[in-house]
Amino acid sequence: MTDCLFCKIIAGEIPSSKVYEDDLIFVFKDINPKAEIHLLIIPKEHIDRLDNVSESQAPVLTAMLQKLPELAESQGLTDGFRTIINTGPAGGQEVYHLHMHLLGGKQLPGFH
Ligand code: 5GP
Ligand code: ZN
Repeated sequence: MTDCLFCKIIAGEIPSSKVYEDDLIFVFKDINPKAEIHLLIIPKEHIDRLDNVSESQAPVLTAMLQKLPELAESQGLTDGFRTIINTGPAGGQEVYHLHMHLLGGKQLPGFH
């Protein structure tokens, strides 16, 4: 997708602080961190939102989840973390390239 901010980040057309990448996923630091550690985990393939993931695209969700323990450890998050996927306008999604927030560091407030 040529007009997508996160596709441009994957392509290196817009700079980012990359933490990890493989065939399926790309991980980088959020530009406006809402916690001490705030990473974004995204599929390399452009998928706009969580509720539009097709069956053939679904394996990338597993890849995103499976990487969490290693990413958390690499960031020093030894005692847990929070993951968030905002979906659609009512869910607070601002960038329409699927992304999982990985947040941690200091104790996060409860989310009830
Ligand atoms: P959303 O609200 O869509 O779930 O989250 C979008 C996230 O992308 C926000 O936390 C925002 O700070 C982050 N973000 C927006 N533009 C950029 C950018 O150009 N670079 C990086 N690294 N993060 C960005
Ligand atoms: Zn994209």
